[in-house]
Amino acid sequence: MAAEIRLFPCLSDNFGYLIHDPASKATASIDAPEAAPIIKALQREGWTLTDILITHHHADHVGGIAELKAKYDCRVVAPHDKAAPIADVDERVREGDSVHVGGLAARVLETPGHTLDHISYVFDADDAVFCADTLFSVGCGRVFEGTYPMMWASLLKLRALPDQIRVYCGHEYTLANIKFALTVDPDNAALKARAEQAARQRAANQPTVPTLIGEEKQTNVFLRADVPSVAAALGLAGKRAAEVFGELRERKNRS
Ligand SMILES: [Zn+2]
Repeated sequence: MAAEIRLFPCLSDNFGYLIHDPASKATASIDAPEAAPIIKALQREGWTLTDILITHHHADHVGGIAELKAKYDCRVVAPHDKAAPIADVDERVREGDSVHVGGLAARVLETPGHTLDHISYVFDADDAVFCADTLFSVGCGRVFEGTYPMMWASLLKLRALPDQIRVYCGHEYTLANIKFALTVDPDNAALKARAEQAARQRAANQPTVPTLIGEEKQTNVFLRADVPSVAAALGLAGKRAAEVFGELRERKNRS
């Protein structure tokens, strides 16, 4: 049976996510921005939390762990990089490890840059990736702890996933990301179509996620740093993609 995925808002602009295995009844929360909306979502579905899969150490992704663990005695899976403190961790995972949620299986991708410990969870059989603050819809996370080449390499790993994989990211930043992307990539027809779609979604108070890897490859300017027209638009024709990516990220920081 296919996984069931629920998304709901947490904090100011984080997404909360539950992934549920109907066969075993196992349910994981991807990150734990805050406990209350996660508990509410579980109660609404009649699900019991068995696992929390943490992507990185930032407070808006781990703040709810203690309360959820106290209530459900669930397993907490987190990145192996212990330099970043995350409390109540039961299992540390690294690149290539498998994480099981009942009968569902996720593959761990190390995607550092936003933080050094950042990982993403790919549920291959369910066509879903939870990539938190590495890849956003039409954007990417700020590079706080890593380098631009490191973040670019992480984005390439995600870009290499099959087109039909659904992208579940950490924040609802899509409209701001589109506004920025259009300044660099104004003639991109797929981006313009996405702008109209996202505007309709937000006007109807709907989330703009999940998106698809295939859509992101067409619309996300941060995944297009190796496209000649994008480099040229930045005055960086012929430069290495990681350098073009760094310039994109700096311009977005200033926007
Ligand atoms: Zn973060």
